[in-house]
Amino acid sequence: MSRVLVIGCGGVASVAIRKCCQHPEVFTELCIASRTKSKCDALAAALKDKTTTRITTAQVNADDVDQLISLIRAYKPELVMNIALPYQDLTIMDACLACGVNYMDTANYEPEDTDDPAWRAIYEKRCREKGFSAYFDYSWQWAYREKFEQAGLTALLGCGFDPGVTQAYCAYAKKHEFDEIDTIDILDCNGGDHGYPFATNFNPEINLREVSAPGSYWENGKWVEIPAMSIKREYNFPEVGMKDMYLLHHEEIEALAKNIPGVKRIRFFMTFGQSYLTHMKCLENVGMLSTTPVEFEGHQIVPIQFLKALLPDPATLGPRTVGKTNIGNIITGVKDGKEKTIYIYNVCDHQECYKEVGSQAISYTTGVPAMVGAMMVVKGLWKKPGVFTTDEFDPDPYMEALAKFGLPFVVDENPTTVE
Ligand code: NDP
Repeated sequence: MSRVLVIGCGGVASVAIRKCCQHPEVFTELCIASRTKSKCDALAAALKDKTTTRITTAQVNADDVDQLISLIRAYKPELVMNIALPYQDLTIMDACLACGVNYMDTANYEPEDTDDPAWRAIYEKRCREKGFSAYFDYSWQWAYREKFEQAGLTALLGCGFDPGVTQAYCAYAKKHEFDEIDTIDILDCNGGDHGYPFATNFNPEINLREVSAPGSYWENGKWVEIPAMSIKREYNFPEVGMKDMYLLHHEEIEALAKNIPGVKRIRFFMTFGQSYLTHMKCLENVGMLSTTPVEFEGHQIVPIQFLKALLPDPATLGPRTVGKTNIGNIITGVKDGKEKTIYIYNVCDHQECYKEVGSQAISYTTGVPAMVGAMMVVKGLWKKPGVFTTDEFDPDPYMEALAKFGLPFVVDENPTTVE
């Protein structure tokens, strides 16, 4: 039925590809293309006898628009799934436009080189005007809206769990549970333990950039920024237990502030253990999280990239991670004239994910929504010209497919709220 090109073959992409191959009636043909072709070949070989999806592989540098155009023209997919890094979002969107192909990704654009003066001038203006200083924001990709509209193509942005499912939960709440939504607290709890003193559950460079940035939230029509990790709360997560969580800036806040009319406050919290925070602070204090190249014995090295080379590859954490994740939204508002609060969430077990697809639950909870998002686009259920986030589509077919294919959701009508 469809021919899809996947770019990237890391932790998240491997899950998305394995899940696509469980549905060969939808994903008839897949091309796995990435910087390191041997990883694509190894995954294709592992899947060969397990699926009837026809898999091919290719090498591509996704920073290079011409290489991408050649690959897309040769393979002729109807959708490109960008599961490489946020650095490649714009080059892949450009190539999709040049070739007339639909696009999707799991994280919004951020530049690899944050010292680039041209990017920095725009970034500093945005910080002043909008009031948050994270390196990533939607303005770069939202600027493509008209081009995708004119080309009659769909671009689906941020289709992982958070961003992604957390926004679909809001669209579901808006459609079925509330007449008005007042506040949204997105909670991302990883109760898993991999046994290492320090490791990240997805790409270390992207993860550490995200969590070391100042936190921010949306309140009464504007951003409030706070020093990194300066708002801490405790929460008793269903099936996980009591955890410390910290307020972070997160990209779906930006989309929800635009797409949920009348919302008064949107916050995002993520759980961290003390060991993670102590290591991160120490690495930050000695300059290891810096993205600015330094000279070392005649070579230019970027400290955070060197650190990535030392840390465990998140794709290898699967066999040793035990415990569960609990990710969802506490939403308050009004239904039929009465105040109401729900917690809509998913619980995922690291070892169950490993048994099914050989990965821990963070890659699983991102890769499954990416596969389901791709399914929505190629089936024509989420297909309209322009650039959209998941909260701008009908949540019902997406939530139904998520539940069927590995990420069921619970609606708790009487949750504890976060102060
Ligand atoms: P990994 O580092 O494990 O994988 C990234 C993949 O992209 C690797 O295969 C890498 O190739 C490839 N790649 C990197 N640069 C290029 C390039 N220039 N050209 C071609 N291929 C390239 O990352 P993850 O799988 O952990 O994360 C993937 C994405 O998912 C990220 O954007 C991340 O932010 C996002 N994410 C989203 C979440 C959500 O809930 N929405 C949660 C977690 C992650 P190589 O093997 O050569 O390094």
